[in-house]
Amino acid sequence: MKTFIHVDVDNLWIYEKEYQINTPPIPPLIYTQAMPLALNSFEEYQISSSLFVIAKDLELPEAKVFFKTAYQNGHEICNHSYSHPANWGSLSSTDRGQEITLAHKKIEKEIGTKCVGFRAPGYYIDDEVLKILSILNYKYDSSLLPGAGTMLMKLFFYLKASIGRKNLEAHDFSFQSHNLFSIQPIHLWSFRWELALTCASRSTAPLFINLV
Ligand SMILES: [Zn+2]
Repeated sequence: MKTFIHVDVDNLWIYEKEYQINTPPIPPLIYTQAMPLALNSFEEYQISSSLFVIAKDLELPEAKVFFKTAYQNGHEICNHSYSHPANWGSLSSTDRGQEITLAHKKIEKEIGTKCVGFRAPGYYIDDEVLKILSILNYKYDSSLLPGAGTMLMKLFFYLKASIGRKNLEAHDFSFQSHNLFSIQPIHLWSFRWELALTCASRSTAPLFINLV
């Protein structure tokens, strides 16, 4: 059996920005400690990974060395936008196109590979983004995250931002129907369904409806 793993390589600054947490500047340990440890484990179990890169981070020498080494060791380098905007779903399609294209060019220049895979920040995808990916000859998009997880995550962001009365406009609270209504019937006539919890096919919860 061949196993593939996708990793969104999101640096700490993304969470600091999204949650408005200010921390003192620290070295990018994600590229010098966390991800090298993860890749050691992948290689031990012969797992090919697809690493979704925020291209702006390639300005960090540590990031460049890490992704170059990973690519040379057979891992796939993919596009996760240029700067990972928190309000990705409400950006104009021109802005989203620029983020994708800038990242595509930066990754090609710094790592020497043409990306063929994309994942949107915040798991938001629409026809406009797919058109841009198709123009750039991408082979796949991996932005869907069906299940209740996305909805709960966005609800948490919304409540947190509302309570703090700040940063409401900076977040993307848009919901997509394929994320919300991913309920699969198991036995339609006995009213049993599976509710997807994440995009992994086995992460489902049974859902029973008793009509009596
Ligand atoms: Zn991300």
